[in-house]
Amino acid sequence: MTGSGITVFIDRDGTMNVNLPFPNVNSPEKLEIIPGAAKGLRILNDLGCLAIVVTNQAGIDNPENELDWGTFEKVSERFRQLVMDEAGAWVDDVFCCPHEKTALCGCRKPETGLYMMAKEKYPSIDFARSFIVGDREDDIIAGKRLGIKTVLVMTGHGEDTLEKLTDTEFMPDYIVSDFYAAAIKIREVQNDKM
Ligand SMILES: [Mg+2]
Ligand SMILES: [Zn+2]
Repeated sequence: MTGSGITVFIDRDGTMNVNLPFPNVNSPEKLEIIPGAAKGLRILNDLGCLAIVVTNQAGIDNPENELDWGTFEKVSERFRQLVMDEAGAWVDDVFCCPHEKTALCGCRKPETGLYMMAKEKYPSIDFARSFIVGDREDDIIAGKRLGIKTVLVMTGHGEDTLEKLTDTEFMPDYIVSDFYAAAIKIREVQNDKM
């Protein structure tokens, strides 16, 4: 692992790209990066963070949704292309749960399976020195379960999520306007520690 030894687990839909109603982002052309998100990612890259996308894509297992692993990979490729073109930014890896909620799998957020898979692949990941950035309670609850610092963005479902989590034990550690602001916040928190 490089640099800071910090890992940032990044939600995709509603955090990095514009959230779409069902059937979601089921083709590369539908992917639209939220303004500033690519620049924010580049800030994390420059900090030496490991940047890992963690995403629920129940559409893959839903026969009514034109999404399969091949299409998901194409969307991921387009994602990498767009953030690289815009800001020279990159993600180090992508972990995806394809299951529907009813499958009760261990990897659909807020379950912790995807994060554990990431840690297995990159053993130097230290949850206590990591961040989760996301727009839904699933992201925040997973972070609380693993002892990962949580950053809630106000894009996507962020405002609804804040309302749901306020006055609960799952209050996020940081609340920011968008992914760019999340990256600035992470850099700030990090600099304070050094
Ligand atoms: Mg999301
Ligand atoms: Zn799953």
